[in-house]
Amino acid sequence: MLKIEEVKAKSILNKSKIFDYCLNPYTGCEFNCTYCYARLFMRRYSGHVEPWGEFIDVKVNAPLLLKKQLERAKRGTVWVSSVCDPYQPLEAKYKLTRQCLKELADKQTEFTSTK
Ligand code: SF4
Repeated sequence: MLKIEEVKAKSILNKSKIFDYCLNPYTGCEFNCTYCYARLFMRRYSGHVEPWGEFIDVKVNAPLLLKKQLERAKRGTVWVSSVCDPYQPLEAKYKLTRQCLKELADKQTEFTSTK
């Protein structure tokens, strides 16, 4: 059973070793692909005890927090959804990815996604 929780993230624009930053509006992913690399470490990283694919933290403050962090951050490329799918079903309700992309575009910040 899917456990959905609305949370307030402390940081949404985080340093990455692959691109300059990564940005994940959700922790967890409902698609639960068997080949997903995130399933190998995200439970431990997030502190969830549920199996991968059965929890999603919805970072409801992501767009506002991103706006604030972009004002202070050095310019760089942002990797959107490194460990979740940006358009998983909950996006239809919360539209966090859509709002975050708008913030990135407003600040003319380069972004990419592997999804
Ligand atoms: S993050 Fe990507 S690969 Fe992993 S379960 Fe979601 S859609 Fe599948």
